[in-house]
Amino acid sequence: MIVGVTGGIASGKSTVARAFAALGIPWVDADDVAREVVEPGEPALAEIAARHGERVLLEDGRLDRRALREIVFADEAERRWLESVTHPRIRERLEARLAQLQAGDAPYVLLVSPLLFESGQHRLVDRSLVIDVPEALQVARTAARDDVDEAQARAIVAAQMPRAERLARADEVIDNGGDEPALVAQVAELDRHYRALAGARPSD
Ligand code: ADP
Repeated sequence: MIVGVTGGIASGKSTVARAFAALGIPWVDADDVAREVVEPGEPALAEIAARHGERVLLEDGRLDRRALREIVFADEAERRWLESVTHPRIRERLEARLAQLQAGDAPYVLLVSPLLFESGQHRLVDRSLVIDVPEALQVARTAARDDVDEAQARAIVAAQMPRAERLARADEVIDNGGDEPALVAQVAELDRHYRALAGARPSD
């Protein structure tokens, strides 16, 4: 069984993944895989460089993410082109990584992805777990962790999938409006729930 974990910026995805890991549940991070597929030597980076040239490459040949982000932010067609190059490769690698984890002893595994629904990665999982947090707290935690002020943090939150839409698509929800012990307690309870569900599933 694969559980997808998602939520907006600074909702607590990494913190939740660590709490599950402490209970013996392994995870794959979709952000890590998204970075891997555009590393030097990867076909996706070659395609991006062939289309946009030197302006999207750093001196050492790695992808200039900021430059590429500016291009696709201003041009919807370019964003779609980029997704057509990267998404299939991300999905392929995620599937391989998840299969590796599933071959281990854990009763279930996690796919942690900020864009679980937006990228279609929810199709790779059996359950979707959404980490929910009041917006004011999310803005404060973003500003405290990242190098942005509250107005910038608010703009980032506003550009993401609306909280209500994410919640409507959740199978399970974690309320991360409390302190970390409260978060860890919810993870422990969900772990029991998922172990029971995984045990009840016919093995295939
Ligand atoms: P994400 O992976 O979703 O971006 P993180 O797990 O990194 O979110 O959490 C964002 C920030 O908020 C981190 O600095 C983290 O330590 C902090 N944080 C997360 N949950 C809580 C909580 N319940 N109480 C206080 N701080 C928290």
